[in-house]
Amino acid sequence: MRCPYCGGLDTQVKDSRPSDDSSAIRRRRICPDCGGRFTTFERVQLRELIVVKRSGRRVPFDRDKLQRSVETALRKRPVEPERIERLVSGITRRLESSGEAEVTSEAIGEAVMEGLKGLDDVAYVRFASVYKNFREARDFEELLGHLAAGAAQAAAAADETAPADEAPPARRPRTRAS
Ligand SMILES: [Zn+2]
Repeated sequence: MRCPYCGGLDTQVKDSRPSDDSSAIRRRRICPDCGGRFTTFERVQLRELIVVKRSGRRVPFDRDKLQRSVETALRKRPVEPERIERLVSGITRRLESSGEAEVTSEAIGEAVMEGLKGLDDVAYVRFASVYKNFREARDFEELLGHLAAGAAQAAAAADETAPADEAPPARRPRTRAS
C-alpha cells in the first residue's frame, strides 16, 4: 500500500483488527521512509458496481463518498459511529446484491433516505429536503455539495441559538414572536 504522504511503497502493517461491527479489517500502517501513519480497511466487495449519473456518465461506486454523505446528514446528531458504519454497509450490500451491474445515482439517494428514516428523523429531513429539491435537475454529486453546505449552515446556527433536538434552524420562520 503506497504511503499517502510521501508515495513510498514499503509501508508496514503495525496492527490489524476487526472494526466494531466486524464488517471490515482495520490496519494501522506506518511508512519507514517518512514516518507517516495511516489506516486502511479491508471489506467484502460482493461485486463491482457502476453508478449511472443523471448526466448518463458512468463512474465506479464509491463507498467512501456514500459514507461522507450519510455522515454529513448526521452531523452533530446523537448517532454512534458504529450505527453509521452499519447503515453504510447495509446500503452498499443491498446495492451490490440487487442483481444489477449498474445502479442509478437516484437509487442510491432513495436508499440513503430509506436508511436515515429509520435512524434519525432530523438527518432524514435534512437529506430528504435537499434530495427532493434537487432530484429533478441535478445529479447526486451536486446534491451532496448542497447538502454539505446546508448542514454546515444549520449546525452553525444550531450552535448559536437552538437546543440540539429542535428542528433544523433553516426551516424556522425568520420573524420573532413578540
Ligand atoms: Zn511515507
